[in-house]
Amino acid sequence: MNWAIQIGILGQTRLRLHLSFLLLLLWTGFSSWKEQGALAAFHAVFFTCLIFFCVLLHELGHVLAARRYGIPTPQITLLPFGGVAQMDRLPEKPGQEIAVALAGPAVNLGIGAALWAGLIFTGGMPDPAAIELGLPLSLPVRLLSLNLWLALFNLLPAFPMDGGRVLRALLALRLPHLRATQMAARIGQGLALGLGLLGLLSSPLLVFLAAFLFLSAGAELGAATLQHLARDARVSAAMLAPCIRLPLECTLQDAVESLLHSAQNDFPVTDAGGHLRGLLTREGIVCGLGEGGQNPLVAQWMRRTVPTVEPSMTVEKALGLLRESGSTALPVLDESGEVLGLFTPENATQFLRVRNALQNHSKNGHTG
Ligand SMILES: [Zn+2]
Repeated sequence: MNWAIQIGILGQTRLRLHLSFLLLLLWTGFSSWKEQGALAAFHAVFFTCLIFFCVLLHELGHVLAARRYGIPTPQITLLPFGGVAQMDRLPEKPGQEIAVALAGPAVNLGIGAALWAGLIFTGGMPDPAAIELGLPLSLPVRLLSLNLWLALFNLLPAFPMDGGRVLRALLALRLPHLRATQMAARIGQGLALGLGLLGLLSSPLLVFLAAFLFLSAGAELGAATLQHLARDARVSAAMLAPCIRLPLECTLQDAVESLLHSAQNDFPVTDAGGHLRGLLTREGIVCGLGEGGQNPLVAQWMRRTVPTVEPSMTVEKALGLLRESGSTALPVLDESGEVLGLFTPENATQFLRVRNALQNHSKNGHTG
């Protein structure tokens, strides 16, 4: 369970709400009701919904900017302090990454500017003295400060905030992508340490946020390192080979035997000439067994249209193909169409991790 529920679809983007948002809604409503009654609770819940709406508009800013560069966003998850727009890929060019990252905070600044102009025009801007005294502020004023806060918070130069991506992209204008990510991650971790120290003196929430930023920088660096390695590595080195193949005429019972007695979950199905005819997945086997019948053949339950890869393709490209096709594995074929092996995300990740460890070892080997 990933603690998010789908609340709607906008174009090609699924909108999901993280459950912490609902908890926040319940908590603000309940605590205001206990202290100040039903009307205050209604106001608190209404304002939380407005936060939700501003975060949503922020994310849509990213989505629209990414779409300009031909990058679809299949999913947005909304959290109380921001959202996560899950794009198919990140923009390649630093300039595009900057534009996509800035589009979100720009939306909040836009809303803030509109509210500010409206308040000036209607004379609704509060007296600085009133703010200092802590007098209750009008809804537009609170909304204005919320949007300024959202913009500034997201511009913090630390992953996974938008500011971290802008910083990486600015560095990538001069440096190779991986080096830029390393520097941006270090700067983000330094900032997180500073925030953490500040939090120890002031607020536990800040300590929590600092820990989150610190760990996120590490995760981003890990992902960028693996991506860098995937760009150079070939499928032939990262595939599972030899792999178990099932002949067309074998039964589902044979497939179960192979599933239970190997680490393989998906099986290329081949004809007598050794050519690929389909892919039998674990789900296919389970479905077939569920349907029963007199020992059905694997040909009945295999996927007939499966994307395939060549051994010389880069691991990065093959991983992209896996993601796009939604397949759990890709058969690797030679020029004559014969099955050489199986490319799976698990095998590829393991390969990249080992390669990373070996590289680190050879880099540090002489000093240690
Ligand atoms: Zn953002």
